[in-house]
Amino acid sequence: MQPVLHVRAFQDNYIWVIRGISRTHAALVDPGDAAPVLAALPRLGIVPAAILCTHHHADHVGGISELLQHFPGLPVYGPAHENIDSLTQRLHDGDEVRLPELGLNFRVLDVPGHTRGHIAYVGHGWLFCGDTLFSAGCGRLFEGTPGQMLASLTRLAALPEDSAIFCGHEYTAANLRFAAVVEPDNREVRVPQQTVEELRARGQPTLPSTLAVEKRINPFLRTREPSVRRAAEQHAGRKLETALEVFTVIRRWKDDFRG
Ligand SMILES: [Zn+2]
Repeated sequence: MQPVLHVRAFQDNYIWVIRGISRTHAALVDPGDAAPVLAALPRLGIVPAAILCTHHHADHVGGISELLQHFPGLPVYGPAHENIDSLTQRLHDGDEVRLPELGLNFRVLDVPGHTRGHIAYVGHGWLFCGDTLFSAGCGRLFEGTPGQMLASLTRLAALPEDSAIFCGHEYTAANLRFAAVVEPDNREVRVPQQTVEELRARGQPTLPSTLAVEKRINPFLRTREPSVRRAAEQHAGRKLETALEVFTVIRRWKDDFRG
């Protein structure tokens, strides 16, 4: 029995369905749209036990009110510092989310950058990081600063290497194309490219990734690598001294990248 399932929403969003030890109940992560969840749950024989939100963007929270109409009283967890209407439990850094009926217990990490109050959920070797860390990439800086995002990514990178990473979007293929431009000599980037294409051709998710893999392929976790710094310097046309300068350059570079 798979403890974590997924439901697709919109173009490329994933709504993670965490069963834990339960056969019949699950926590839903970032249900941006209710319709695909309401279609999938009966098929899976699952009833939601809780909703976990990572940040306030509509493609992550837009389905909550409709889900609450179908499942009134469902606890809705989310970041204390963001404006999300239907939250019942406002979470701060270091808080624990206990879902005993699923045998689950998550720790909350503040990971600002994509949005100001973005949080991640960590537990059981899993990381649900919304739009902060993607496979081979990271979230755009809509509200936070490059310094905040780099600190958040550094924090996530300190988790155990075998942590399974469940991101909010299927962006891996495009991210790998950018990673290959930043580090053309990094053979590790080419390894997953083929696997990812095969998975996508079969309509399978490329997630979860692991932190160990991301440390080898993700340029945003590799801002201290000489190869990434050199590429950023070449792109910027000047010398870069710090990891933050490197991060800032490659984040902006990726914003404009059409690969
Ligand atoms: Zn977002």
